[in-house]
Order: sequence, then C-alpha cells, then structure tokens
Amino acid sequence: MDQELLEELYQSLVLDHSRHPRNFGTLTCSCHAKGKNPSCGDELELFLDEKDNTIRDVKFSGQGCALSMSSASLMTQAIKGKTVEQAQTLLAQFLDFILDEKKLDEQYEPLHIFAGVRDFPLRVKCVLLSWRTLEHILRDETNQKIVSTE
Ligand code: ZN
Repeated sequence: MDQELLEELYQSLVLDHSRHPRNFGTLTCSCHAKGKNPSCGDELELFLDEKDNTIRDVKFSGQGCALSMSSASLMTQAIKGKTVEQAQTLLAQFLDFILDEKKLDEQYEPLHIFAGVRDFPLRVKCVLLSWRTLEHILRDETNQKIVSTE
C-alpha cells in the first residue's frame, strides 16, 4: 500500500476513535488512576476491573486532543479480556515501539498507527498519557495519585 494512502487510513482511524471513543465511561472499582498531560491539556481517568488476574472490563473518561483520546480508546480495546501479564507485555512493547522505535508485534495492530508521532515529543506525550496511567495501575502504586507526563 502506498504511504500516502496508509497515512490517510491512519488519520481516519485516529479521528474515528477520538470522536467515538470505545469503552468510554466509568467503572465502580478500586483500580483507577488519573492522568494528565499539562503541555496539551489532556486529562483522563482510567478504570480497570481486574479479577483472577484477568482484566474483565476497562473504561476511561476525560477529555483531550484527538491523539490522546484515540490512543486511550485503542488501548482499552487492546487490553480488555486479557490477563494482567498480557497487558504488561503489551505496555512494555508499546513504550519501546514509541520511544525506542522497536518493532511492535503484528497482533497489536492497529496500534501501529501511532508510529508517526515518534519525531514529535509533545505528541508522544499525548499518545502515551493513557499508557502511563495504565502503567501506574498495573504497578499498583497507590490509587488516586495523578500521573503526569511532565
Ligand atoms: Zn494531547
């Protein structure tokens, strides 16, 4: 597929997920954390319903730019129903993919669409906001604390 067409597809996927975020809402559960990205103004709260080592449900609420919203939306789709270890593996791979330009396993399509932000540090923060918040929850570093990309 030619590069231009691919970028258009990626762009429309980002817009679709930012306009119609999946798994948007809140959950009543003890596993939640807030994240904010002051440089852009993105704010979100992530809720994780985990039982028997499985992520049974995940939701997020908040507001932000198209990149932060679409990244959170796609992340929730990717980890819902997975085990905690699988989510940790994906998190580590995605961080390496964005920050160190490492390869991302094909099974994690369509998260590859965010490769284009690597050269733009401020945009990287938007994309990683939900992932940093997930990291915080998975490490179980006290709830309620606000994760900041700064
Ligand atoms: Zn942003």
